[in-house]
Amino acid sequence: MSQNSVKLVVDDIASVLQNFIDSPPAGVAVEVLDALKEVSKSYSSLLPPHLFFEAVEQSPVAISITDAHATILYANHSFEKVTGYSCEEIIGSNESMLSNNTTPRIVYETLWARITQKKPWSGTLINRRKDGTRYLAELTITPVLNEVNETTHYLGIHRDTTDLHSLEKRVGNQKKLIESMVNAAPVVTALLDDSGQVVLDNLEYKKLATDMRNREPAHEFLAALRKTLGDHFENLYTQHREFADQEISFDPGGGSQPRCFMVSGTWIKELDDSADAFFEGNKRFYLLLTANEITQLKRQQEETRINALRALTAEEELVQSMREALNGAVYQLQGPVNLIAAAEAMQQRRDSNSKEGLALLSALNQALAAGRQALQTLQSCIPQTPVDARDYINVNRVLRDVLTLSTDRMLKSGIVVDWKPAPTLPAIYASERRLRGMFKQLVDNAVEAMSTDSGGPRELRITSHYSTDNLIVEVEDTGPGIPEDLRLKIFEPFFTTKKSNNRAGMGLSMVQDVVNEYAGTLEIDPAYTDGARFIVTLPIRQKTLLSDYGTDADETHE
Ligand code: FAD
Repeated sequence: MSQNSVKLVVDDIASVLQNFIDSPPAGVAVEVLDALKEVSKSYSSLLPPHLFFEAVEQSPVAISITDAHATILYANHSFEKVTGYSCEEIIGSNESMLSNNTTPRIVYETLWARITQKKPWSGTLINRRKDGTRYLAELTITPVLNEVNETTHYLGIHRDTTDLHSLEKRVGNQKKLIESMVNAAPVVTALLDDSGQVVLDNLEYKKLATDMRNREPAHEFLAALRKTLGDHFENLYTQHREFADQEISFDPGGGSQPRCFMVSGTWIKELDDSADAFFEGNKRFYLLLTANEITQLKRQQEETRINALRALTAEEELVQSMREALNGAVYQLQGPVNLIAAAEAMQQRRDSNSKEGLALLSALNQALAAGRQALQTLQSCIPQTPVDARDYINVNRVLRDVLTLSTDRMLKSGIVVDWKPAPTLPAIYASERRLRGMFKQLVDNAVEAMSTDSGGPRELRITSHYSTDNLIVEVEDTGPGIPEDLRLKIFEPFFTTKKSNNRAGMGLSMVQDVVNEYAGTLEIDPAYTDGARFIVTLPIRQKTLLSDYGTDADETHE
């Protein structure tokens, strides 16, 4: 725009302003006109005063100008539309004619207290239209001051916010409804935002958080899912894919038992409501985690398993003692049969022709045949050792089962157990039954040794750990110990130091058999002097690490 054109526009403005001042519209305050006259004197203003008036008149919000007592001097077109009153009806009336008389008095008192201090006030009032209907008026009142800083007028700007309010209330009500439903749900529920922060949770979740001494349960769930599902979970998580009924367990801390849950996850997509995303329509993802606690169920299952194991072990022990008794009887009978065989051989050589000699030989023959027959019968009665299927076994779990099975016996004998399992152990490819039988034998021996020993502490210590090649289990007791001269003999079949024993000294020989079967070693620690310490070493043949808790971790060893 050139200098000349600017001058032209300014001239136009000046003339329009002059026209406005000369014939002002109805309701324009004298003070406003005075101010405009001041403005009209200055040709530097580029905005015509009438423009201000038109802007106010055509504004989509209800605008009114009052005197210092709230008497309406001017109201714009939107004011007429919102209130239902025409300018003719409203001008000269007090703003209080809009009051529905249901706005608490304190609100008006606060409003007036503020505006009489020459400060603007904003708030919401319940107004009544001309037709008697009510609406919510979101109102701002601004005091208009004169040159000596006195309030001469008030400028009121308001809009009908009834719909917005009802929408807000409906959203709020719905939120409350959803929250109460989520709260009432008997499952642990939490909503996580895309940064993993919990933005909504329920009572069950809060209870769990309290149990866990305010550690974030959702983070424990995610960590356990990562541990259990590994890369698969990472894929599900990053691709926002759902997952259902994943069994996880974790240690809640404070020495409590591990807790087990079935965890499911659903992704919720939300449009970003931030200003930045107004035109972009960005999406945000929330993860709705629900978890059903199954610790109790698992415990019941575990109890059932232990009971079944107890019955099985009792039966196995019975069969084992029968096997040992029969083996013992065979062992005992073998001696006399061998003697008869030797006598028969001698008799054959010495005197086989005399009548007496032949009679003796025949008697020896018969005795030998009967002896051999008896041996055969006994041997055929020995129950066969079942051939077990091998599998990858968590030795910690086997040891825990053995301790559980022996709990009653140890309690009766006042034995304290110090059980130190390695947090993770390599799996052993073996028969679970054979390993359990072996460790049970070592524990039974220790319990028996301590029960017979009077006085002194009774402590059974079991430790599991592993090296690069071997898994090691140590079983130590505070019994009388094993004298040095017996440390080899005790592994021989039928050797026993026990006076009244219905087991024929086959226990340690069986332990030795199992250890041999898995190419391991069994030692008595010569340096240990507080009782006996048996060290079982089993070679590791595979690289799967198993955690001590129910769920086995598929981590790679090394
Ligand atoms: P009122 O007697 O008018 O006022 C209640 C209390 O307010 C009194 O007890 C007193 O403490 C205080 N008060 C009133 N007038 C004055 C005063 N001049 N100086 C100091 N304190 C005073 N009200 C609405 O209900 N709806 C509206 O849309 C609305 N818009 C308004 C816009 C403007 C620009 C102004 C200035 C006021 C507006 N008011 C509005 C407030 C209105 O003037 C009334 O105060 C209110 O409606 C209550 O009316 P009332 O007759 O029940 O009580």
